[in-house]
Amino acid sequence: MTDQQWQCVYSAGNSLEAHSLKGLLENTGISVRLTGEALAAAAGELPMSVVEVQLWVIGSQWQQALVVIGNYLRNDYLDWYCGHCGEVNQGQFELCWHCQHDREE
Ligand SMILES: [Zn+2]
Repeated sequence: MTDQQWQCVYSAGNSLEAHSLKGLLENTGISVRLTGEALAAAAGELPMSVVEVQLWVIGSQWQQALVVIGNYLRNDYLDWYCGHCGEVNQGQFELCWHCQHDREE
């Protein structure tokens, strides 16, 4: 096994969750592949909302992906408002994108 091999890191219960996680992972610089969707679409019978979708990442980013997913599952990715300038920030960022102010808990 090499660090460049794709490994399944998570099975999402539906397409929406899979795409939410994919976005989060990609925001942290992790490349993501999804499997399961194409198959379901080809079958044309199951609604996308009930299809299980696997997320795959390469081995060298697997540990990092697990951390991101773990945080997601603990609901750490809620949007927050900057106490300095009032801009809304996505939950995975610790600094305000607008003014660089520290996130305040
Ligand atoms: Zn700010």
